[in-house]
Amino acid sequence: MFGVEKSRFDTVNRPAAGIPGMSEATNPFESLQEQIDDAAAYLDAGVDVIERIKRPERVLETNLTFERDDGSLETIRAYRSQFNGDRGPYKGGIRYHPGVTRDEVKALSGWMVYKCAVVDIPYGGGKGGIAIDPADYSEAELERLTRSFATELRPLIGEDRDIPAPDVNTGQREMNWIKDTYETLERTTAPGVITGKAIDSGGSAGRVEATGRSTALAARETFDWLGDSIEGKTVAVQGYGNAGSIAAYLLADLGAEIVAVSDSAGGIYDPNGFDARDVRRHKAETGSVTGYEGTEPVTNDELLTLDVDLLVPAALENAIDADLATEVSADVIAEAANGPLTPGADAELAGRDVLVIPDIFANSGGVTVSYFEWVQNRQRFSWTESRVNEELERVITNAFGDIVDAYETHDLPNLRTAAYVVAIGRVLDAYDQAGNWP
Ligand code: NAD
Repeated sequence: MFGVEKSRFDTVNRPAAGIPGMSEATNPFESLQEQIDDAAAYLDAGVDVIERIKRPERVLETNLTFERDDGSLETIRAYRSQFNGDRGPYKGGIRYHPGVTRDEVKALSGWMVYKCAVVDIPYGGGKGGIAIDPADYSEAELERLTRSFATELRPLIGEDRDIPAPDVNTGQREMNWIKDTYETLERTTAPGVITGKAIDSGGSAGRVEATGRSTALAARETFDWLGDSIEGKTVAVQGYGNAGSIAAYLLADLGAEIVAVSDSAGGIYDPNGFDARDVRRHKAETGSVTGYEGTEPVTNDELLTLDVDLLVPAALENAIDADLATEVSADVIAEAANGPLTPGADAELAGRDVLVIPDIFANSGGVTVSYFEWVQNRQRFSWTESRVNEELERVITNAFGDIVDAYETHDLPNLRTAAYVVAIGRVLDAYDQAGNWP
């Protein structure tokens, strides 16, 4: 079949190596808990308080039965994890992917708590997912399944309660269905119940580009902080979807040279660089980045180990494990994806002075502009795209300042720990001010 990605929904999990004979933990929930423990060591907080913020407050596990186009019924498992609401309503995306598990959703919901806190927006964290490959279903089937999920979510979500958003393999279409189901059942209008909507359904200008934009801004700030500049830097991007492809062309706009990109069908490389926007057009037309004119093919592992100034993993969790990390040659890694490095990879890269811009900061543009969308929905007033982009830039540069300040003041080992120290400190302050009740 022409151009359609062979394995669009491959996960990037691979058996981890690390210590011979042992397998490295790649359970994302365990990774999250390790990251919290690493930061907690630098915080003046009791173990009891830290334990409380290492696990979700509640997880909905539900089995959705919906009708297939042939009239048969199918039952599929779905989750929504509400991790922590100390700083505001739970906030986080809904993912459709065969690799969705309860632990993955729990981890992703925790990362949302610390992501919202590090950029100082007034939300807690949540996440949801359905364990399907959407490519196996028609649009009508996906609509029935999504509306069934929205019906189950209805008592849990709400503009001031829990606000879902898109994630891997969901987008404006699914958000519009969820909003419509909720509003119909509640007999109200409440566009702020969900973000990532189409503009005419209450979405925000700039939302689609926001995650790639924060990744590019985070990289710019980091090179500036190093006394260098993003201009002229070579970049490789793994994953050419929403986050990766937009980060690529915005980095190019800042003067960087995109030399390699990939998707689940394979990668392309040209040491002299290529036009990232034109590769998006090629992918839209053919289904993959592969075969783009003037480039040579590379595998995903080759791309991740290319000798570039900046590597942007923008696919799924665990893309780089401890074993592969020994071969990574990039100087800086900007985590556009959530959890692309295993803790073993993180330790290996830290030992080799590879600077990692952590996911909870680098990809926080998506939730930040979701927050702007929600603010606009509550005010029933739309902002211009330039206002959205200016406010996003302000949030990202302020957050980078806070992270660097924590890193330098407390002599922290890396920017990830610094980001968690800032974020956990804010969550603990809110909890402390509210007090434990009942
Ligand atoms: P997407 O579905 O638009 O794109 C994912 C891309 O990764 C696709 O090009 C796919 O082909 C590719 N891919 C999948 N498996 C791969 C593999 N094994 N090797 C190479 N490429 C592979 O998803 P997205 O929205 O861009 O999300 C990507 C990551 O960014 C996820 O970790 C997501 O949680 C994170 N993220 C996204 C947003 C957002 O607003 N979209 C916000 C924050 C974080």
